[in-house]
Order: sequence, then C-alpha cells, then structure tokens
Amino acid sequence: MSELSSPDPQSEENSASLQSSRGQRPEEQLLYDRLVDAIIDKTLRPGQHLNEVKLAATYAVPRSRVRRVLERLRDEAVVEIELNRGAFISRPTIAEARDVFEARKNLEMIIVRLACARATSADIDELRAHLTKERQVFDNLRPEMNRVAGDFHVLLAKTAGNAVLARMLTLLMRRVCLIQSLYEKRSGVLCLVHEHERLVDLIAANDPEGAAAEALHHCAHIESSLDLTERRRTEIDIYELP
Ligand SMILES: [Zn+2]
Repeated sequence: MSELSSPDPQSEENSASLQSSRGQRPEEQLLYDRLVDAIIDKTLRPGQHLNEVKLAATYAVPRSRVRRVLERLRDEAVVEIELNRGAFISRPTIAEARDVFEARKNLEMIIVRLACARATSADIDELRAHLTKERQVFDNLRPEMNRVAGDFHVLLAKTAGNAVLARMLTLLMRRVCLIQSLYEKRSGVLCLVHEHERLVDLIAANDPEGAAAEALHHCAHIESSLDLTERRRTEIDIYELP
C-alpha cells in the first residue's frame, strides 16, 4: 500500500473536530433548514425580526448556537444583524436585486450549457419526473410551489456536474425569493412550468445555445414580474416596515 492511499488517523480526527466546530449538530442544522424553508416558502418576510430567545426555546438550542445559525445566514446574505437590535430577514435593495438577477441569468446560461454536455439519460428522467411533480403542484396552487420551482433550478445545476456552481445557484435562489417577496407585482405566476419543460427538451436534444437562450428568456420573464422602481421601494418602506 502506498503512503498516499493509507488512512491517516490524525487527519481523520482533525476533520471530525473541524466538522463539529462548524456547527453540524442536528438541532442546529434543523433550525437552519427551517429558517431557509420559511424564506423560500415566503412565510418569513423581508424585514421580519428573528427573536433569538424564542428560537432558542422552540428548537431547544442554546442561544450561542442560535446566534451561529443567524451568523451563517448573514454570511449567505439572507439575514442582517444590527447592533442592539438583533437579527432580521434581509430586505434587498433595488441595486442588490438587479445584481442578483444579473448573476443568476449568467449562471443559469453556464449551467444549461454544461448540462447539455454532461446530462445522462438518467438525469433527463430525473428532470422530467421533477417536472411532473411541479406541474401537479402548480395546477393545485400548493403552498410549496415556490420551493418546487426553485428545486428545478438546483436540480439543473446538479445535472451540470459542478458542485461550486450548484452551491452558488442554491444561495442565489434564496435571495431571489426575498426579492420576489418584496418587489413582486400583484398578479402572476412566477415560475412557468412550460418554460422548464422547454429547457429540459433542449438539454435532452443537446442544444446548448438554444438552452442558454431559453434560460435567459426564463430569467428575464421572472424579472419582468417584479416592480424594481423607487416608487415601489418607497411604498415598501412606508407600508411594510415591520
Ligand atoms: Zn424557473
């Protein structure tokens, strides 16, 4: 056995202690997951206060660990922590919203091009199975439709076979939810299933430029459902301040 392939107990120990110091305890992860789900489902709204004491009691997690979860969410740009005021769900500005959408559309174009090159027939089957579920959820206007639509994009990113891009897109999608919560126009379905279906057809047909154009169109369509004007921002600040 070569030295390179032999197990190194020291490094395994280091890796275990590193993992625990990163806060991978189940109750802490559960709190993190619940908060992320509530942001995606829009039950937690931008500007909403996150009460550290109540979160600690509800999830039976020490306050120090609640704070770590909140700091992790702050680092992921979905929570803001203000001195002496506590933690709040982020309220993206118009400039941030535009940056997020610009980043997202460029990322999505890269992802679908890679997906065309790398998708296996099993990947296409998985995407189509997701679309069937998505269609049912949208037809019945289920509360989880936002999350299911977002999951489609994360699944596409996994199909692209690049964990770094998938992680970037996952984090961006949460910020997109906050932006939609704040700036969405009164009417309209956000994520149109038939556009997702067209994307999968183009990937299955290995048409990278067609898929990139469709991804761009899809992102532009979603952005057009937002009112990114100063007037809207002023209304939010006047009427929707928590
Ligand atoms: Zn979509």
